[in-house]
Amino acid sequence: MHPETTESVEDAFAIRRVIVIGAGTMGHGIAHVCAAAGCEVWLNDVSAAAIDAGLAKIQQNLAVGVQKGKLTQKAADATRARLHGEPDLRVAASLADLVVEAAPENIELKRRIFQTVTETLPANALLASNTSSIPLRLLTAGLARPDRFLGLHFFNPVHIQPLLEVVRAESTSDAALASALEFARRIGKEPIVVRDVAGFASSRLGLALGLEAIRMLQEGVASAADIDKAMELGYRHPMGPLKLTDLVGLDVRLAIAETLAREIDPVRFAPPQLLRDLVAAGKLGKKSGEGFYKYET
Ligand code: NAD
Repeated sequence: MHPETTESVEDAFAIRRVIVIGAGTMGHGIAHVCAAAGCEVWLNDVSAAAIDAGLAKIQQNLAVGVQKGKLTQKAADATRARLHGEPDLRVAASLADLVVEAAPENIELKRRIFQTVTETLPANALLASNTSSIPLRLLTAGLARPDRFLGLHFFNPVHIQPLLEVVRAESTSDAALASALEFARRIGKEPIVVRDVAGFASSRLGLALGLEAIRMLQEGVASAADIDKAMELGYRHPMGPLKLTDLVGLDVRLAIAETLAREIDPVRFAPPQLLRDLVAAGKLGKKSGEGFYKYET
């Protein structure tokens, strides 16, 4: 369970003010857990509507937590009071002890964001990307303090999933890594440390299983439901690889596969034709109403 009060917040690393860039699926969840752990949090997005929607979603998730008896109304109210919207990225960055970037998985876009952040970021602040597959070395050019840069890869839904993959870039200092690990534990996450290779540990392994499951479906080895059941019942995975691909988004998985095929191995991570066809047909998984399964929208 996440910390509900600010009592344990004092620490040697003094990360108290967190800026989250991108208020979408991941950004609002990251803002939620940081505020729940006692940080003041500013949520930034190019879209004012996305900031409002992100804050509303957090409010909703806090209310569910109260309903289920996981936190008190007082703790929920205190968490909400620590959350702010800030549409101006330069202003937001100037306030930060830690910046977590959770904008779309696009190298150029992330580079542009980091350039802007660098203009006003305090020298000692930590700068992190929530990228799920882009090697950090492709994002460090132009950073004022590459030693204070690393990956903080959260999992969806962020306020529930306990894992935090901490990615150490070649340039990341020992002190920055130590701060990140301390922070991860303070916000109630279990960190793992991974070297800066495309797909890190979690995306690379998850994708390998997902791509093989798609190839098996393509070859008619079994139905989608039976392939998933093989892993759910046979290997105790909470969710089969095709269902999981529907949840993550087929477009997201395709983008990760393309990155890993380019960066690691073009054969092992080649996206199956079925995945390309479904994405081209707009069948992106749960979010579009259909992927390997059909969903009520
Ligand atoms: P999303 O599309 O739900 O949200 C992205 C948000 O970024 C949107 O609200 C968009 O308006 C905003 N944005 C776009 N350009 C921006 C800019 N220049 N400045 C500020 N905000 C901007 O995406 P997501 O699923 O939350 O993914 C975000 C990042 O997290 C990606 O790098 C993705 O690979 C990674 N990630 C995603 C998941 C997942 O399950 N969805 C899990 C782990 C990591």
